[in-house]
Amino acid sequence: MRDFGAEIEQRKQAGLYRTRRLVSGPQKPELIADGKPLLSFCSNDYLGLANHAGNISALSEALPETGLGGAASHLVCGHHDAHHQLEQRLAEFTQRSSALFFSTGYMANLGVISALAGRGDTIFSDRLNHASIIDGCILSRAKVRRYAHGDVSSLEAMLAQTSGHKLVVTDGVFSMDGDIAPLKELARVCKAHDALLVVDDAHGIGVLGPQGRGSVLEAGLSEADVPVLIGTLGKAVGTSGAFVAGTEVLMDYLVQKARTYIYTTAMPPALAKATYASIDLIEQDDARRTHLQALIARFRAGAQELGYQLMPSYTPIQPIMVGDNHAALALSRALEEQGILVTAIRPPTVPEGEARLRVTLSAAHSEAQVDRLLKALARCRSLLPEQAVQEPVAV
Ligand SMILES: *Cc1c(COP(=O)(O)O)cnc(C)c1O
Repeated sequence: MRDFGAEIEQRKQAGLYRTRRLVSGPQKPELIADGKPLLSFCSNDYLGLANHAGNISALSEALPETGLGGAASHLVCGHHDAHHQLEQRLAEFTQRSSALFFSTGYMANLGVISALAGRGDTIFSDRLNHASIIDGCILSRAKVRRYAHGDVSSLEAMLAQTSGHKLVVTDGVFSMDGDIAPLKELARVCKAHDALLVVDDAHGIGVLGPQGRGSVLEAGLSEADVPVLIGTLGKAVGTSGAFVAGTEVLMDYLVQKARTYIYTTAMPPALAKATYASIDLIEQDDARRTHLQALIARFRAGAQELGYQLMPSYTPIQPIMVGDNHAALALSRALEEQGILVTAIRPPTVPEGEARLRVTLSAAHSEAQVDRLLKALARCRSLLPEQAVQEPVAV
C-alpha cells in the first residue's frame, strides 16, 4: 500500500503543504477568515461584483421564476431559457456570433480542448498555461508540445515542422504572472500555419479591453483572428460558470462533442440571470475599471520603491517574486500577523524556485487599503531573501 501519510509529511518538509481557510460572510476585501478579520488581497473578484447588491437581488428575484436546481443536463431537459439568453448576451458582449455556457472554466477547458483536438493531432501550449488547459491537453490524447512562455518565434518554428491538425492554446492573462499573451502575433502565426487558436481569457473578461470585453478585443482581434474564446464567470463577473464563444458551427460542434458540456447537470438557471445582470453592469460601468487601474499603479509604485520585485503586469494580478518556498510562506505569515491576507503561491502552481506572493487587487479596495498593504510590506522587507531584493526604484 502506498503511504499517503508519509507523502503528506514530505510535502510539509518541503514547504509545499496546503491548507484551507474557513471564510464566513461574503467575499470582500474585509474578510473573516478562520474567525479573524483580515484585509484580503487574494481573491479574483476584480470588480467587486461577488457581493454586489444588484446582482444578489437579480438572483433572489429569479429564484421563484426558475426554481433552484438545474435538474438535468442541457441535452436532456436542463437547457433553460435563462441559460439561452445568457449565451446570447455573452456572444454580444464579446462581439462574437454565438456562445456556449459551461459550469466552470475548468470544465470548459477540458471539454473544448478535448473536443477540438484528438489522437494524431498536435496541441501547442504556452509553458505557463493554467492547470485546466494542461489537463484538457492530456485528456485530448493529442500530441502536446509546450513552447517557452510567450515565445512566438519558437512556436512558429514548431508549427512549421508539424503537419496535420494543429491547435494553439494560451491564457489571455497569465494567472500567476499577470502578463498578457502576445495575442496579435499568435493570431498571425496561427493563420500563417493553419492552426486553430484558443484563448482562455479567465482573468481578462470584465477587466481589460473596451467596456471590459477582454484581452482579445483589447488587442483589436476578431473571431476570425481568434476563433475560440473561453471566458470564466467566477472571477471579474462575480458569479460562477464559464463560456466559450465563436462561430455557430463551432458551438454546434461543441454541443455534439464536448463531454464536460454533455455529461453534466446544467447550472441553476437563476444564476444565469444574475450573471446576465452582472454583464450589464460590467458593460455600463467604466468607473470600476478606472478605480482598479489607479490602485494597480499605486501598488506598483509603492512596492517597487520598497525594493520588492514585481512582474511586468498591468493587470490586477501583481505577484511579488520571492523564490524560496519557505521565505514566501514566512512573508505571507508576517503579513497575516499585521492583519493582511496575501497567499504564497508555490510549485507546482508556479515553476520550481519561483515561489511568490500573489497580490490581487479589486475595484472593491480603497486607496487607504492599498496603503495599508504597502505599510505592512515595508515592515516585512527584511524577510525577503537577498536575491529577491531589487534596487529600490525611485518613483
Ligand atoms: C480560474 C481559471 C480557470 C478555471 O475557471 P473556474 O471557473 O474557476 O473553474 C481556467 N483558466 C484560467 C486561466 C483560470 O485562471
